[in-house]
Amino acid sequence: MAHALKIPPGGKAASRVAARYPFFATPYSLELAAECPGFAKQVFPDPRELSDAGSMPADPFGETGLAAAAVPGLKQRYPDRVLVMAAAGCAMRCRHCTRKGMLGTAQTMSSPESIAKAVAWIEKHPRVRDVLVSGGDPLVLPDAAVARLHDAFASLRQIESVRICTRAPCTLPMRITPALVRILARSKKTWVNTHFNCAGELTPDAVRACGMLVDAGIPVSCQTVLLKGVNDTPAKMLALLRALQRARVRPYYVFLCDPVAGVSHLRVPADKARALEKTVAESIGGLALPRFVADIPGARRKTPVSELESVCGPRAF
Ligand SMILES: *Cc1c(COP(=O)(O)O)cnc(C)c1O
Repeated sequence: MAHALKIPPGGKAASRVAARYPFFATPYSLELAAECPGFAKQVFPDPRELSDAGSMPADPFGETGLAAAAVPGLKQRYPDRVLVMAAAGCAMRCRHCTRKGMLGTAQTMSSPESIAKAVAWIEKHPRVRDVLVSGGDPLVLPDAAVARLHDAFASLRQIESVRICTRAPCTLPMRITPALVRILARSKKTWVNTHFNCAGELTPDAVRACGMLVDAGIPVSCQTVLLKGVNDTPAKMLALLRALQRARVRPYYVFLCDPVAGVSHLRVPADKARALEKTVAESIGGLALPRFVADIPGARRKTPVSELESVCGPRAF
């Protein structure tokens, strides 16, 4: 990423936003943004990011505090799975990022010592059977570090799946190299969970990257974030889901934007999400149908939008 751009186009206004929420994009994502307006909304700073600061928390899940609870860089919210924060950064700073106010501050693990601590912790917790390797984006790490993480968790007998959570197939598809695929495919436990938000992101390069993983026997699924003007109409959402299915990527979740500062201009209200889910469910087969959910702190699972009111009460999500 030597050629990545760190100063946003768009003059003073954009630079002011970037001073608070950094801008970072690869040449590939800038080219894609030029062709795909939905993607451009995810790349370029918007002055409205600065207008909701007082009303929204920067760290809705209390993650900065939680890290101290177990092992640095390890997060457990559900009994049978843990999330490992492998890297602090990503190949792009998404404007809708849940961690946009604190990216780079969380504890991460990729050194042999910190991985060993995580492994020891998991071995003491035999109910854990699923490890999410996340971040940031673990695929900003070099192959050797990815291999170290992958092998450490995949080699544990109690672990039945290792999920690599990465937006690289979308934002940096050339990162999916034959050498990387060989590393990920050497256990039969590996799944890749990626992040596409609109059909225009499924470029030939992106489709090729996903295809390389699937051809190697690695199931690829997609977590989408519901974003105003990007995928919040039936036509746009269906175009995305069909493009994912053509690329052999399984739509998994559609998330409501978390209530974090700097994202209000992209948020879609829960009512609209429910209506969209219904229309989509009536228009496409189950294999291409994701679950529409919200990530509510303290809930025992990702909460279906249809149950949001019973979980959170009538407050607007
Ligand atoms: C979302 C999440 C998971 C995975 O949840 P699934 O519903 O299994 O995809 C695991 N750990 C943490 C900390 C999470 O936030």
